[in-house]
Amino acid sequence: MAKWVYTFGDGKAEGDAGMKNLLGGKGANLAEMSNLGLPVPPGFTISTDVCTHYYAHERTYPEELKGQVETALAHVGKLTGRVFGDAANPLLVSVRSGARASMPGMMDTVLNLGLNDETVEALAKQAGDRRFALDSYRRFITMYSDVVLEVGHHHFEDILEEHKERKNYQLDTDLTADDWAQLIVKYKAAVKRELGKDFPQDPKEQLWGAIGAVFGSWMNARAIKYRELNDIPASWGTAVNVQAMVFGNLGETSATGVAFTRNPSTGAKELYGEFLINAQGEDVVAGIRTPQDITEAAKIAAGSDKPSMEKAMPEAYAELVRIYGALEKHYRDMQDMEFTVESGKLWMLQTRNGKRTTKAALRIAVDLASEGLISRAEAVQRIEPASLDQLLHPTIDPKAPRTIIATGLPASPGAAAGAIVFSSDEAEEAKKQGRKVILVRVETSPEDIHGMHAAEGILTTRGGMTSHAAVVARGMGKPCVSGAGSIRVDYAKQTLTAMGKTLNKGDAITIDGGTGQVLLGEAPMQEPELSGEFAQLMEWADGARRMKVRANADTPLDAATARKFGAEGIGLCRTEHMFFEGDRIVAVREMILSDDEKGRRAALAKLLPMQRSDFAKLFEIMHGLPVTIRLLDPPLHEFLPHTDAEIAEVSKAMGASPEKLKARAHELHEFNPMLGFRGCRLAIAYPEIAEMQARAIFEAAVEAAKKTGEPVVPEVMVPLVMTKPEFDLVKDRIDAMAAAVAKETGAKVEYQVGTMIELPRACLMAGEIAQSAEFFSFGTNDLTQTTLGISRDDAASFLGPYTAKGIIPADPFVTIDQEGVGALVKLAVKGGQATRPKIKLGICGEHGGDPASIVFCESAGLDYVSCSPYRAPIARLSAAQAALGKLKEKDA
Ligand code: ADP
Ligand code: MG
Ligand code: MG
Repeated sequence: MAKWVYTFGDGKAEGDAGMKNLLGGKGANLAEMSNLGLPVPPGFTISTDVCTHYYAHERTYPEELKGQVETALAHVGKLTGRVFGDAANPLLVSVRSGARASMPGMMDTVLNLGLNDETVEALAKQAGDRRFALDSYRRFITMYSDVVLEVGHHHFEDILEEHKERKNYQLDTDLTADDWAQLIVKYKAAVKRELGKDFPQDPKEQLWGAIGAVFGSWMNARAIKYRELNDIPASWGTAVNVQAMVFGNLGETSATGVAFTRNPSTGAKELYGEFLINAQGEDVVAGIRTPQDITEAAKIAAGSDKPSMEKAMPEAYAELVRIYGALEKHYRDMQDMEFTVESGKLWMLQTRNGKRTTKAALRIAVDLASEGLISRAEAVQRIEPASLDQLLHPTIDPKAPRTIIATGLPASPGAAAGAIVFSSDEAEEAKKQGRKVILVRVETSPEDIHGMHAAEGILTTRGGMTSHAAVVARGMGKPCVSGAGSIRVDYAKQTLTAMGKTLNKGDAITIDGGTGQVLLGEAPMQEPELSGEFAQLMEWADGARRMKVRANADTPLDAATARKFGAEGIGLCRTEHMFFEGDRIVAVREMILSDDEKGRRAALAKLLPMQRSDFAKLFEIMHGLPVTIRLLDPPLHEFLPHTDAEIAEVSKAMGASPEKLKARAHELHEFNPMLGFRGCRLAIAYPEIAEMQARAIFEAAVEAAKKTGEPVVPEVMVPLVMTKPEFDLVKDRIDAMAAAVAKETGAKVEYQVGTMIELPRACLMAGEIAQSAEFFSFGTNDLTQTTLGISRDDAASFLGPYTAKGIIPADPFVTIDQEGVGALVKLAVKGGQATRPKIKLGICGEHGGDPASIVFCESAGLDYVSCSPYRAPIARLSAAQAALGKLKEKDA
């Protein structure tokens, strides 16, 4: 008989942490904690297989499920000494969703299930506290109605508000047992009014209703959107956890809380979290009451006037400290825990590897390695390369004046500036139009995920460090300030008011997720500091990788950034960028529009000194590191003058008539410029261009070597080669120029001439091309376009459905198409190495900075990857992980 249900509790469990796929993350870890002998309320997990079955069979359950759930319920009843549905001694449970990966968007937890008009009296009697029992019941009715019956919270809130107003109460805690009793009658009436039937009194019906709602929520719009954004397949399914209740709302010796074993913002080794006395479930994260600190140190640091858990509940606190130590040792990672204290006794309700900022992730990985809990290689593998992006973002210049209009919690680091918007839809709209915005909300909910994605940063006026906004922003790597309580947001008027100032939608603000500050206007930003744990981890990564990392850099600023971020050379210097600058463009246009070689040479002579000084600066900064310079590549029409003023300027410089220039420009027009007159085709037709560039390169190399004492070995790269004879023609000109410069200067420059491999034909003919080419650099942007027959500029309109429908696994311009483009790369590697065993191999397309593509480059045996300067650390770490991954494969 198939097994669908797995029990846990009382020091043992049928599952364990290794069974996340079947039991979901929450269920697997509840089982693991039970196995470790930690205090976990007993319960059971209905597996993800049931979810799969449910959707494969028109939303019905496997036949055996009912019986297995009954058996499991009886088992939990035995462990707790209670009976589910019993009028005198009722077992109450929570029903909790739990997918493999923690997933906002799924059904909210239902607590206190099993309560009805009868069992609530039994609960009151057993606890000796009628108010507590009624408080639990009203919570159950509102939660169950909201998430299972779809009768929204506001119905109950309105009733509650009206009651409080009438009785002149401020807080929910002011309500007496009788108040709740009256409200419960009204709550039930509201449900009946909305649904046309009574709130379910039968605990079994309640239970199956909640189970069905969890499975149903797997396919709700929020969950689907979340999966889409996070690449979670729908086939995974969710599990359902049913667990005996423990009560944090049983008076002053009870509480509920969340805690991290290390600080999730900074990574500091300290128990970090929040708790609330006499509260239940998600009161802590809901932001209804301000939570209290767990440790005394945190309380003092925050200047809070409420006692810490350490002071208020010393025994439960000591137990929490013991358990957190055990959990960290066991999981060998920082844990995020949820707990409840019932009448002084601590119960663990959840543990998982905690989400953290990248800064914290680095500190934790380095600390865990130093503490001996993990190896250095594991530390390197713990960091998600793409997440380094967070650190590489600018912060607010500390010297800049700050007009602080509010201070909230530093919920997610980094600074961001933009125009205020008050809704997620507007944020998304603005992003589409290329505008930068800050999403300002009272609080966020899973419905705001798309807006949070689109915004530069998020500001909320309510909620703590574990509020929805804070948790999601940290996961996304977006700056976030939460709980800026002094700001008043008026959605209707589309304004926010802070310190007497009223700002409108569209006004600029800056948020500093590191300090929690909200600033007026757009503050100047500063580049990140890359020392401490970052430097340590990168050092370990550098020690572990085989491939070199270079940067694509066209300007001295790029080159300096590249070196700062640890690049070991320039893998691609695009010379055309130099052609656009300042007054050069006039000379470039003059060159293009000349109708004979003489005219072109005259114009090129004007460009030569400028190119030479560009290269010399790059070479000086790179101090002997390799620099690959690509000869002019784009179709000439890109440089053509468009306006009459531009044409007039060029005509003056050339002494030619504007009409003639217009006619010449017209001649140069192309229908498919990307497949047109570009790349080495330019050098074939106008060799004088390549000659000028080669001369500039070699003269600059001589100059820079004199200055720095570190001779640069320039790598001259010929773009868009498809045949050897074509390459040879260009190479001959370059070699001749090298010889000429050597003769003129008396200094011999060592150099290489190679090619960019970006056409399928070049991959096929790589063996032959390598007879003359000394290196290959895979230009995978064009190689992807030419292999797939897809133009990157037009792909957006149809590629979306391709990835959504799973026709292709990922956008091929982001992650290399391993099967197609990758196969061509491997073929070219093989061909090239067969002819020239030591041929230097690299990649310089966008893929060079994409972690998944870098893993491919490692397996293809490339010598280096080259990416944008800011991505160099990501590439260094990815290359290390790729190398370590390969080691593991070999060991196994
Ligand atoms: P989420 O995935 O949103 O964190 P959980 O299933 O973890 O949802 O439930 C949220 C909170 O509900 C828990 O942190 C805990 O405070 C409370 N809770 C869940 N199950 C129980 C239970 N059996 N007894 C008491 N509180 C519970
Ligand atoms: Mg929740
Ligand atoms: Mg939880």
